[in-house]
Amino acid sequence: MLAENYRIVEEQVKEACKQSGRDPKDVTIIAVSKTKPLSDIEELIKIGVTEFGENYPQELKTKYEQVSTPVHFHQIGHLQTNKVKYIIDKTVLIHSVDSYRLAEIIEKEASKHNIKIPVLIEVNYAKEATKFGVFPEDTEALIRKIARLQHIEVQGLMTSAPLVENPEENREYFSGMRDLLLDIKSKNIDNVHMKTLSMGMTNDFQVAIEEGATMVRVGTAIFGARNYAK
Ligand SMILES: *Cc1c(COP(=O)(O)O)cnc(C)c1O
Repeated sequence: MLAENYRIVEEQVKEACKQSGRDPKDVTIIAVSKTKPLSDIEELIKIGVTEFGENYPQELKTKYEQVSTPVHFHQIGHLQTNKVKYIIDKTVLIHSVDSYRLAEIIEKEASKHNIKIPVLIEVNYAKEATKFGVFPEDTEALIRKIARLQHIEVQGLMTSAPLVENPEENREYFSGMRDLLLDIKSKNIDNVHMKTLSMGMTNDFQVAIEEGATMVRVGTAIFGARNYAK
C-alpha cells in the first residue's frame, strides 16, 4: 500500500518535471513519516526509499536508533534550542533554522561532535502569523550572520506555503522563494551554498516543483492521514 502510494507520488513528481522542463533527478522526495510507526518506514526502505522527514526531535532520535538499515533523516519541523542535542548527529539536513539563536546552539552542539551540519533557512514567505520562519526581506542578513559559524553550512531555503484549496494560489510564493534563493546565491557569500529549495507538501508539491523546488516534503499522500491524538 505505502509502496504504491510512493510510486504514485514519484509519477506525479516526474509529470511536474516534464511540465516544467526539469530533470526528475533534481527533485528529492522526502517521505514525511512524523507520527507514523517504524514499520511504515521499514515498508518504504524495502522499495529503496532513503529520505525521511521528521518533525519531533525525540521521534527522529528513536527512529534513527531503531531502524533496521541506515537511512537519512531530515529535521523538517520547528526546532527548539533545547532539543538540538537529540538530533545533531542523526540528521543529514536541518530544514528549519529561523533564528541566529538557534544557529548558535546548532554550532555549539555540532562542534562537540566535530561535524559540519548542513542547514536550510526557513522562510515565512506569506508572513502568516501562525508560522515559524524569517521574513523574506530579513533572510539575507540572517544568512550572512550564520555564514560565520564554522560548524554550519547554509545550503538553501525552506518554506511551508499556506494551506489553500487550490495549490495555484501558492505559485507566487514558490516563485518568490526561487527568486530569493537565486538572489542570495548571486551574492556568493563565503560558506554558503544556495543549492536546495525545500518546498511543496501533499497539497501543492507539483506547483512547487514547477517553480523550482529541489526537495518536496510529502507525508499524507504517502502514509495517509495522521492521527495526532494517539
Ligand atoms: C507534516 C509536514 C509536511 C508534510 O505534510 P503533508 O501535507 O502531510 O504532505 C511537510 N513539511 C513540514 C514542515 C511538515 O510539518
